[in-house]
Amino acid sequence: MPIEEKVGKTLAELGVADAQGVEALFAEVRAAMEKEREELIVRAPSTEKERGQLCKALRDRWLARKNGLLTQVHEHWLEPASKELRPVVGKNFNMLRQAAASLETAELLEAVPVGIRKVFADRIEPKDSVSIEKGPLDLTLPGYRRPLGSLHPVTRMQREIEEIFLSLGYWIEGGPEIESVYYNFDALNIPETHPSRDDWDTLYIDATTLLRTHTSPVQIRAMKKYGAPLYIIIPGKCYRHDNPDSSHSPMFHQIEGLAIDRDITFADLKGTLDFFARKLFGEKIRTRFQPSFFPFTEPSGEVAISCTLCDGQGCPVCKESGWVEVMGCGMVHPEVLRNGGIDPARYSGWAFGLGVDRYALMKYGINDIQLLFQSDVRFLEQF
Ligand SMILES: [Zn+2]
Repeated sequence: MPIEEKVGKTLAELGVADAQGVEALFAEVRAAMEKEREELIVRAPSTEKERGQLCKALRDRWLARKNGLLTQVHEHWLEPASKELRPVVGKNFNMLRQAAASLETAELLEAVPVGIRKVFADRIEPKDSVSIEKGPLDLTLPGYRRPLGSLHPVTRMQREIEEIFLSLGYWIEGGPEIESVYYNFDALNIPETHPSRDDWDTLYIDATTLLRTHTSPVQIRAMKKYGAPLYIIIPGKCYRHDNPDSSHSPMFHQIEGLAIDRDITFADLKGTLDFFARKLFGEKIRTRFQPSFFPFTEPSGEVAISCTLCDGQGCPVCKESGWVEVMGCGMVHPEVLRNGGIDPARYSGWAFGLGVDRYALMKYGINDIQLLFQSDVRFLEQF
C-alpha cells in the first residue's frame, strides 16, 4: 500500500494496535519522506525553474495544510488514536514534523552548483548498483559539532597554585615518577626503619626502584642540577599503597615548594605560606602553624587555615575545630642540603608539600576523591 493511501486510513483500519506497530509505521513514513527528498537532490534538474517547481511540489505533497501527508497523519492517526497509543503516536508525529522541517529548506539546495550535484548523484547512484540505504551527502546540512572539553578540576587547581608561586618568582620543576629508593628516601634523610618505607605504604618495582611516594625527590635532583639559590615548585603525580576510598587514592597529585638562599628563616616560610593561603582561599583566611615532624625538615610544621565554610566557628567539615590542615612544611634539614650538594653552613631553606586533589575537593565542594579519577563526563562537564 503506498504511503498516501496509508495516511488516509486510521490505525485501527491499518491493523496497528500496539506501540511497536506505531513505531514501525512512522519509521516507514519518515523513510519515504527522506527518500523523496534524496531523489530530489540527486535528480539535478537542468534549470533553476524546474528545480523550484520540484521543491514546491515536494513541500505541497507533505506539508500542505489541506490534505498534505502530515495533515492526514494528524487527522487519521493522531486524533482518533486510543488513549494507550496516543503518547507514542504523539511522540512519533513530533519526530516526523521535525524531520519534515528539512523540506522547508529544500530550495537551499540551489546553492549547490549543478555540476557538484551531478558528481554526488553519480557517487550516490552508481549506474549498476542497488538502491542506497543511507542518505546521500547533503551539502546543505549543518556540520557535526564536536563538544568542547574543559580543564580537569585537578589541572585547574594545580594551575591556580602554580600561578601564585610563579608570580613570586618561583619556577616549575619536574622529575620522574619511577624513582630510585635513594632519591625517594635515603637522600631525604628518611631512615631505613621509617614506616613509610614499608611495602604496605610504598609501591616497589624492585629492591632499588619504586613509584615515588612524594614529589620531594625532585628537591635533591634540582639542588644537584642548579645549586643555590633555588626557588622552585614541583607539581606531579605520586603513588602510595592506599586502598581507594572517599579520601584516599593510590595515585594522587602533590605540589611541593622549595626555597634555598642565604639567610632564609622560618619567618620567610610563614610569610610566604600566609600570603599563598590568602591569595588562594581569600583575604579573610587566617593561617595557623603547629609543630610537627618530618625527617627531611627541622623544625617541621603543619599549616592549617581557618575553615572556609564556617569561618572558624566550627562545623562538621572542620570537625568543629574551626581549622583545616592544608599542608606540611619546615626548614630544610641540613643533611638534605648536604645530599643535594649545598653547604648548610652557607645556605638555608624552607619547603612545603600539599595535596592538589584535596585542595580541589575543598575548593569545589566535592566529597569523594574517587570522582576526580573516574572520568565520568557527567561529573567533569560541571567544570
Ligand atoms: Zn568549619
